[in-house]
Amino acid sequence: MTLSCRPVSDLAIIMGLPNHIDPRKLAMQIIRLEGAVDRSCLPRLAAAVVCITGPVNAKVSFENQQSRAKLVDGTVGANVEMQCQRCLDSVAIDLQSSFSLQVVSCDEHVDRVAESREPWIVEERMASLHHMLEDELLLVLPAVSYHPSGKCTGDAFMQQQGGDGVIDSPFDILKSIKKRV
Ligand SMILES: [Zn+2]
Repeated sequence: MTLSCRPVSDLAIIMGLPNHIDPRKLAMQIIRLEGAVDRSCLPRLAAAVVCITGPVNAKVSFENQQSRAKLVDGTVGANVEMQCQRCLDSVAIDLQSSFSLQVVSCDEHVDRVAESREPWIVEERMASLHHMLEDELLLVLPAVSYHPSGKCTGDAFMQQQGGDGVIDSPFDILKSIKKRV
């Protein structure tokens, strides 16, 4: 069953993205939260970029499946500036992430998560929504960023040096944590 199978009238939309939430209760209530997260609530993202330039907007839907699985689907987007690795000036990056999660209570239960989903381990009743959204943004953060070709003052330098290298993101560890199903 997916959200699209459910009559729209069942879904209650609440404007605002509180940090401390009870995701299982929200799933039982079939709630969608929509709103902006203040950039000061995302310290790990702020530390990983030059600056967060625009509002961080998200939509997060909570659904209770017939199998009693608690599902969380949504999108989060942020405009940030990163350092161009050719000219070392700032380059604007539009981060967009969509996610499909399933709430589980501990590591041992991640094998209950559907293949199309990532586990969201929530050991206590409450969870930090901001932390989860920040994780999703860090996962789509490029390891290195460049101005588009022709718009970078470092273009001539790169032609002398050869092509771009592929560098692992420092946040690959998050991917490995989330993928260890
Ligand atoms: Zn550049």
